[in-house]
Amino acid sequence: MGHWANRTSTIVQQDAQIINELGKIRGGAQRLVHFALAGEAGEQMYAEIEAIMASFRDHPQFGNQVSVLEDAWRELKQTILAYQAEPTLEGHHELFQIAERLWILSNELVLAAQRHAESKVHNYNYIVASFVVCIILIGALLVWLKQYVHDSLEYLASHDSLTRAANRHFFHERMRTARFQAARENRPLSLLLMDIDHFKAVNDKFGHSAGDRVLEQLSVVIKGHLAEDQVLARVGGEEFAVIAPELRLAEGLRLAERLRKAVEETNFPGVGSVTISVGVAELQPGESEDGLYRRADAALYCAKAGGRNQTAG
Ligand code: GH3
Ligand code: MG
Ligand code: MG
Repeated sequence: MGHWANRTSTIVQQDAQIINELGKIRGGAQRLVHFALAGEAGEQMYAEIEAIMASFRDHPQFGNQVSVLEDAWRELKQTILAYQAEPTLEGHHELFQIAERLWILSNELVLAAQRHAESKVHNYNYIVASFVVCIILIGALLVWLKQYVHDSLEYLASHDSLTRAANRHFFHERMRTARFQAARENRPLSLLLMDIDHFKAVNDKFGHSAGDRVLEQLSVVIKGHLAEDQVLARVGGEEFAVIAPELRLAEGLRLAERLRKAVEETNFPGVGSVTISVGVAELQPGESEDGLYRRADAALYCAKAGGRNQTAG
């Protein structure tokens, strides 16, 4: 940034010098006419202005305009000499005309130099502004990237990679907060435990990876029937749990029945039909997470014992 500022300042200084030099030509021509009219020589001024014009002769930007100016200058010089030799009214008039033309030409040159300088400063401002915008964008990208990596790591740490359901660790954490909230606010909380029926047979008949595909698809089907605040977790190999805040036992059983039916009606490619048994329990006053889990598991055992593909609570 400092470098850019220094460069811009140097360029502004150089351009200011150019404008100043060109301005001297503009003013000098006028003063020479006055000297000539007053009968003074003004030799030094001739030399100074000619030196300035010579220094700009090869300038890539102003070279052409300077050579036009030099022509007018030569004309002025001759007219001054002629006037000094014979000061006529006509010569006087001519002198003013050429001086006016020279003023217009040199003024155009000064304006061109100013425009040129302004456009350069404008370009540099544009570059600096673009640079600042880039830095801001890169900063925003880094912040986003950091958040993204953080979220991804958090997701990986709390979810099962095969089914994308929450893992056991996350399940226990969620159970603790859900039980705490329900107990504090005296709100209902239900827990559903489900286990795939005869899953060993699925593995035996279709292979372990076909069994894995069933677990993946089952997770998608169940998630599709859950509300925002309900969490699906994989708590065992082919055992899943749903934490259902705000649900009483009857509502929990209705949800369990919807899930059981949805799974039963799903076609698992290469395997066909699969069923689940579901046990439901509602949190009792003063009960621990373990207590609630054990009762849901007991209900699941009842559903299995009752013939499977059924719900119990
Ligand atoms: P049921 O529950 O109806 O009593 O019978 P089951 O055959 O399902 O019995 P159980 O629940 O005890 O069987 C669990 C089987 O699930 C054993 C194991 O081979 C299988 N299993 C556990 N985890 C995975 C897994 O990640 N992938 C696959 N493909 N199979 C798994
Ligand atoms: Mg099991
Ligand atoms: Mg099973």
